[in-house]
Amino acid sequence: MKDSPHLEKIFQDARSICVLTGAGISAESGVPTFRGGGGSVVWKGMPFDEISSARMVRENLDEVWEWFDYRRNILKDCSPNLAHYILAEWENKFFDFTLITQNVDGLHTKAGSRKVLELHGNINRSRCLQCEKRFQMNETDIPHKPEICDECGSRVRPDVVLFGEFLPISVYQEAERKSSQCDLFLIIGTSALVYPAAGLAEVAKINGAFLIEINPEETPMTSLCHKSFRMKASQALEFLRRFVR
Ligand code: NAD
Ligand code: ZN
Repeated sequence: MKDSPHLEKIFQDARSICVLTGAGISAESGVPTFRGGGGSVVWKGMPFDEISSARMVRENLDEVWEWFDYRRNILKDCSPNLAHYILAEWENKFFDFTLITQNVDGLHTKAGSRKVLELHGNINRSRCLQCEKRFQMNETDIPHKPEICDECGSRVRPDVVLFGEFLPISVYQEAERKSSQCDLFLIIGTSALVYPAAGLAEVAKINGAFLIEINPEETPMTSLCHKSFRMKASQALEFLRRFVR
């Protein structure tokens, strides 16, 4: 690749690196993305941002669980792919490495990443609507368990950030702080339409970081990035891996 010496130096000089991942990094593990390829997911006639919304939790929690259990059922048979493994390896190779994900699939942790800032929660966790007690589910508990909170008897919901909801503030603040301090920022497999993905990349850029995008498709983020790889996550990371010792 023509600009390899330049990239090699960027990686060698990087003291602090942030990586933001989206659904695309798990696509090669067989986890469907919501967007991409010109289409978007529809389930039972509802667009994904309707079924995955705060309003649906209030109006039809049964349907929300049906959709989440359906996704959990797909996920239980999925394993991390090379891209997840390479990022897990990088955690030990950089002086300061931060992995931020919009994914709820837990595949980074399964690949061995020890610290993951999960901006949107985790699909195998639920929380009580009333007292907010959290429950860790086994991935094979389908349908989900428990139905009812053992503390207060209220129903539980997926512990995932839905459309119309705020991000967990402390996780977001940590992601923002790290993004503002890094000198290399990678954005992998996100359509960059959902904030704060775009916001974190902007924060990194304003503070002088070099931005690399990895996505087979162009995104609203492309023009902000110094370098874009129009490739699958595993292909591009395998190429970049040679610069990381
Ligand atoms: P998205 O579904 O909106 O976009 C996926 C992006 O990945 C697209 O731009 C597509 O071009 C790209 N892509 C597809 N295959 C790729 C590959 N092999 N390598 C690299 N990129 C690839 O995803 P998003 O931007 O993360 O936003 C959707 C929201 O839905 C997020 O908030 C996320 O929490 C949630 N979501 C999560 C999962 C998951 O946990 N795996 C799956 C679907 C959606
Ligand atoms: Zn409760």
